[in-house]
Amino acid sequence: MTCTLGPSSSSASVIQDLSDNGMSVSRLNFSHVPRGDYAYSSDIISNVRGCEGMHCRVLQRGYNMTAVLLDTKGPEIRTGVVEGYVSGEKNLYVELEDGKEVLVTTDERMREKVTSSTLYLDYKQIGSTVTPGDVLLLDDGLIGLEVTAVSDGKTGDDGEEYCEVNCIVKNGGALGSVKGVNIPNTTLQLPSMTEKDKEDILWGIRSNEIDIVAASFVRKASDVRTVKAYLERCISRAKADGDLKDGDDVVRPAIISKIENKEGVDNFEEILAESDGIMVARGDLGVEIPFADLLILQKKMVRLCNLAGKPVIVATQMLDSMQRNPRPTRAEVTDVGNAVLDGADCVMLSGESANGNYPVVAAKTMQTIVAMADDALDSRRGYSNIGQRRAEMYDAISKNASTLESICSAAVQMASQTDADIIIAISRKGSTVKSLAKFRPNVPIMAFVPTPSIGRRLILHRGVYPIVMSATATDDEHERVVEAVRTAKEIGWLKPNHRVVVVDAELWGLESTKVKTKANCIKIFTV
Ligand code: ATP
Ligand code: MG
Ligand code: MG
Repeated sequence: MTCTLGPSSSSASVIQDLSDNGMSVSRLNFSHVPRGDYAYSSDIISNVRGCEGMHCRVLQRGYNMTAVLLDTKGPEIRTGVVEGYVSGEKNLYVELEDGKEVLVTTDERMREKVTSSTLYLDYKQIGSTVTPGDVLLLDDGLIGLEVTAVSDGKTGDDGEEYCEVNCIVKNGGALGSVKGVNIPNTTLQLPSMTEKDKEDILWGIRSNEIDIVAASFVRKASDVRTVKAYLERCISRAKADGDLKDGDDVVRPAIISKIENKEGVDNFEEILAESDGIMVARGDLGVEIPFADLLILQKKMVRLCNLAGKPVIVATQMLDSMQRNPRPTRAEVTDVGNAVLDGADCVMLSGESANGNYPVVAAKTMQTIVAMADDALDSRRGYSNIGQRRAEMYDAISKNASTLESICSAAVQMASQTDADIIIAISRKGSTVKSLAKFRPNVPIMAFVPTPSIGRRLILHRGVYPIVMSATATDDEHERVVEAVRTAKEIGWLKPNHRVVVVDAELWGLESTKVKTKANCIKIFTV
């Protein structure tokens, strides 16, 4: 489960509670982080890193495997800050009333002075983008404004140019600070990665605390390549500047592409091929395309991600009413459960954990629903989709398998046939773990990996539980298996008479012939 952290969940104690109740990824949304202001995010990250967890309590290695996800602002329009709002506090709202006039302005002096009649927008080109009759949708489409007049090219007494757009409130509501704005049927004149995104990502790399970057509004495969290349450049730069040192545990963050507009949908397959994973970002997507299309699109994207063996997060409004109430609606319960049954690797809390009144109750609720759905999916009980998905995958495999896929699909099958209790993957970089997860075993995968960074990048994959091996185990392949099994017993994942399937790689060959090769191996035994 991914939890967005914000004013309701920035303290160490709430973050610990979220972690205890199933948060495996903590999301920081940089749409809400002012440019260059990183103190708040740093504090939140140290609270995440300070969390205790089963891995740390039992093994006393002082870390918790929660991943940190940096969600970029991306090419989007946002409103300003409600007048009187104190940063870090919960949202303050202004009421936009039906039929009333609202002046929309890009005047910087109004950025922190949003009222029910004056609304700052952070998109300078708005004047040349809209004409009377166009509609501005605010806060994932909850509020609608109709444009009545546009006056571009104004100059303030500070010498800065700005523009003003007069609007009428078509359907009103309460508006908080820094809410998203969509203008249907327009393409924004913004690059896929903005200057702010670049600064934020560079900061994240320098801190070496970011495990996943969620790229917002990805429109095509080249957007993903741009982010990937930029991440690599940031790593080199941080090394050259001495922020990252030799011996630091540095791995490029995984890139999750957020699909949230029509272009992203149209180019989905090529985007998926370039990405490490996908987020079905239903907030903006539900405004940018006809909302009825969401149902089938969500299922299609989840299915394609499953077949590609890449993790998929289903996001937005999953338990929306729990921002205000301690109990979910029935529709929300079903939405979360269905996402799991469809094959999502991860479900997400947004405002529920970031800004709501019941962040921990929401996490607990989500975790309960996920566990129930997951249980029903266990193929031994014969439930639907995932078994079918697995069959599709085996079918594809038999035609065109890599060695690793062949080994991993066999290991998953063996675990099922022999009623094993756990699969242990001993993995240097994580590819064995990802491949095993792709075949959706009925039992947990313990990913035994050399460093926390590698472990945390695997956590989005369904059913994967990373544990970091000791330095001695890193050097010896037999010691690695022994330590992995011993650790699984210590944690209580393996008990006497349990059966375990271990997948690892051995250097194999004859000393005399000097022929040595890495061979993938499956071991199966009873503890
Ligand atoms: P996105 O479209 O990227 O999801 P969003 O505005 O919907 O953006 P969420 O991350 O879904 O934002 O969070 C829901 C709400 O929680 C936000 O609209 C905001 O009111 C609040 N929130 C989230 N993160 C922060 C933060 N760091 N500071 C202040 N408020 C936040
Ligand atoms: Mg966003
Ligand atoms: Mg959102």
